[in-house]
Amino acid sequence: MQPDFVEDLGHGIYAVDTAFQRDHFDAAYLMVENGRAAFIDTGTNHAVPRLLAALEALGLGVDAVDWVIPTHVHLDHAGGAGLLMQHLPQARLLVHPRGARHLIDPKALYLGALAVYGEAEMQRSYGQLRGVPAERVDQSSDGQMIALAGRELLLIDTPGHARHHHCLWDARSRGWFTGDTFGLSYREFDTAAGPWVLPTSTPVQFEPEALKASITRMMSYDPQQMYLTHYSRVGDVGRLAASLQAQIDAMVALALPLKADAQRHDKLRQGLSAHYLDELRRHGCGLGPERQLELLAMDIELNAQGLGVWLDKLPA
Ligand SMILES: [Zn+2]
Repeated sequence: MQPDFVEDLGHGIYAVDTAFQRDHFDAAYLMVENGRAAFIDTGTNHAVPRLLAALEALGLGVDAVDWVIPTHVHLDHAGGAGLLMQHLPQARLLVHPRGARHLIDPKALYLGALAVYGEAEMQRSYGQLRGVPAERVDQSSDGQMIALAGRELLLIDTPGHARHHHCLWDARSRGWFTGDTFGLSYREFDTAAGPWVLPTSTPVQFEPEALKASITRMMSYDPQQMYLTHYSRVGDVGRLAASLQAQIDAMVALALPLKADAQRHDKLRQGLSAHYLDELRRHGCGLGPERQLELLAMDIELNAQGLGVWLDKLPA
């Protein structure tokens, strides 16, 4: 009997709804092969009880977990990694080399998020970040293969959303664990046309050309499905990839003329909002515009911030 926050996706892959922000917003994945297990992304500290409950519901002990693999070190993906590792005596943490030091000593991550969110929101959403002992941390390399009970998994470097981002290929299910590199796709926007997706340019390392190249590289493996952190598995990956590429171009086209604009942030927010409403209308979304913008409120703000940071790094 599985808890209602665990979804069996087949191929020994389970999505765990971490309940961060709202239901069906933030997933962690549990992969099980011959009694051994791996977590891919962890959610925040508050997700850890659910991750441990998912293990138990599948009849697995805490010593069955060999790997904890955050796709990148943004806190909705890796904020719970340190606390989770304390519960998993056999697990090794596998992280992108640019993210490793931040999970060993999370002080910089904490202070960065504190500056954005403030003390009360940090406690409410993330809790106290725990470091992972350096001797339990492995750094991935581009093209690295790892095994989970003999099941081969490939890691590739996928910059564009963040420079500390890698993605994991599971040949068995022909699926990528994409973190934030293949955008965000909320189930509330599903229609007869299928899922809808939007790119994420969360501060502070959005690089549009690198992001497009990472998506192209993942598509070269002919994936049948993508396991997104926000939220869960999507098919129809060819259509979604084309949409992401076009939307990244649209974000750049929106942002570039606003580089020196005094009302830049507000205009970016307005432009993104209009873009998403237009996209969702063409997608056949039946939700009202106010509800659409409510569901996208945080992403509109973060994407506008990230585009601003990107503009500021461009040569004048
Ligand atoms: Zn992210």
